[in-house]
Amino acid sequence: MNIVVDTEVKEKECKAQQLGEDYQQLRDDEKMYRLLCETSNSAFIYYNYEEDRVRTLADWAHFFDFAISDIKDLPKLYECVEEQYAILLREGLFIEKQHRERQSFEVRLKENRLYVEVEVNIVYDVFGNPTDKIIRFKDVTKLNAQKDELAYMAYYDMLTGLYNRNYFVRLLGEFLRLADKESHKVAVMFVDFDDFRRVNDGMGLIAGDELVQLFGQYLFDLMSDHVVISHFSTDIYCIAIYDPCGARSVETIYQVIKERLKKPFKLMDGQEVTMTVTVGVAEYPEAAAGTLELINCAEIVMFKAKSRGKDMIQYFDGAILEEFLQTVTIQTKLKEVVFEQNFTMHFQPQYYTKDGKMRGVEALIRWKDSKGDMISPAVFIPIAEKNGTIVPIGNWVIEKSVQTYVEWRSKYHYPLVLSLNVSAVQCKQKDFIDIFLQILKKYDVSPAEIEIEITETILIEDFEHISRRLGKLRKIGARISLDDFGTGFSSLSYLKGLPIDTLKIDKTFVDTLLTDENTKIITESIIYMVKRLGYETIAEGVETEEQFRYLRELGCDIIQGYYLGRPMPAEEISSLLADLTAKV
Ligand code: C2E
Ligand code: CA
Ligand code: CA
Repeated sequence: MNIVVDTEVKEKECKAQQLGEDYQQLRDDEKMYRLLCETSNSAFIYYNYEEDRVRTLADWAHFFDFAISDIKDLPKLYECVEEQYAILLREGLFIEKQHRERQSFEVRLKENRLYVEVEVNIVYDVFGNPTDKIIRFKDVTKLNAQKDELAYMAYYDMLTGLYNRNYFVRLLGEFLRLADKESHKVAVMFVDFDDFRRVNDGMGLIAGDELVQLFGQYLFDLMSDHVVISHFSTDIYCIAIYDPCGARSVETIYQVIKERLKKPFKLMDGQEVTMTVTVGVAEYPEAAAGTLELINCAEIVMFKAKSRGKDMIQYFDGAILEEFLQTVTIQTKLKEVVFEQNFTMHFQPQYYTKDGKMRGVEALIRWKDSKGDMISPAVFIPIAEKNGTIVPIGNWVIEKSVQTYVEWRSKYHYPLVLSLNVSAVQCKQKDFIDIFLQILKKYDVSPAEIEIEITETILIEDFEHISRRLGKLRKIGARISLDDFGTGFSSLSYLKGLPIDTLKIDKTFVDTLLTDENTKIITESIIYMVKRLGYETIAEGVETEEQFRYLRELGCDIIQGYYLGRPMPAEEISSLLADLTAKV
């Protein structure tokens, strides 16, 4: 008897305990769901069709100052969104009418100006009848602000508030298209400070930045529907004028700029600087047929003006371009004589960060114009690429550089890597590899002594073709270096499949490395990633000791830049090597 009673009691106790545990479980679950709801930055409406009951959950008061207790109250919501969202909301809240399960969209509230993502979910039973409806309101105001900031960075230059280079090129493209339709002209003014180095070197980089900013802000006010202005690079601004005439003629804008430059710029530390600018002007369609060529022409003209004296404006003149083109077209007839007369090679040293040893040199071409002035390859290479003369020029660069390299090698026996810039146009030539190998053979140089630099943009144009070709070059032992990394559509993800050995971090990163937190983070992660992929990193355009130290700290392998050595004639590299080998 006792035994029976005992088991009954035990069973009851067991059940009670089980119920207690279930209850506890339920309470824990409820607590967890409540927490999830409350921390989700959202508010919810829950509607059960069978019970016809509406509940609001989580942070309702963050969004709305009224309650909803009946499904008929839902239209109250239309009132509180900005007008243009009302229809969207009305259709979105009742998607069961279209038998849809889920929809999300964004609205903006009138009162508190919040951006709200609305997500509507309907649960159906097996017969296709709706059973539950959950509407979630999520505050995405902050997220939108971040997106806006990113968009801002994509279009504008942070220092001056003017357009950035990429966006300027796009806007100029739109001007050209419109000009075709409306038979108008478009002028580009390439505006460059004279002797900017004097400020940067003499007063410091911050003073330089301040000056760029002050002048940029002044230019900002000249913008209109017809005039767009960009901060193009360090001390260069580009102005595009649609249908230049009257108050927006090139001459008027130039006078307005000159007027401003009569007065000094007041810097924050009280110093005053007076500056002048040299301006190159090229007009569409007279000077060039496309955006980049037009900017290039304006730049060439500006350079020309600089070599004639500064503080002036120079209009495009076919003769300036002719002078260049003639120089190179004649070369096909006269061959090397003309090359030697018009071009020369400079070499810039590169150093390892770990032991300070010289690693190699980058060969950089220079064009001597008729007066003996040096013209930057950044100006004439793009034109030579357009008209095909880059091929003979490029072959000459390889031959001349390899020949010089062999002279150093036999004299100093110092192991150097010779870096050669190869243009996309040249690299794509069918016989490029054959010609390259022929030259090496002639001077008894192994491909392993050479590094070929190609720019990131090349790859984007024709990824498959070029990367196969680079793979071949690498197979025969040459090193491949990806130049100007970070200026194109730099995506670390495509690096993985690329046949490269070295990655060159562009000067634009180095420039702002110490002043801009974002650049710091990006550079740090580039170096880290690149190391993991097994490539070497070279930072170029290193101008100061601080930049050098910081890059070394980040683990960058090789440094190139004015701080350690400018591009110099072959003889100066010879003396460097003589010093180095004398020490050993
Ligand atoms: P790049 O290949 O990016 O070459 C580096 C450029 O940065 C060179 O300009 C060099 O003089 C400059 N540089 C180096 N260190 C510093 C520094 O610390 N501060 C500053 N402000 N600049 C520095 P460069 O010689 O005017 O060449 C411009 C571009 O022209 C080169 O850019 C390259 O893309 C192209 N280029 C030069 N030589 C050749 C060539 O032989 N063949 C081809 N295809 N392209 C060439
Ligand atoms: Ca290069
Ligand atoms: Ca570069």
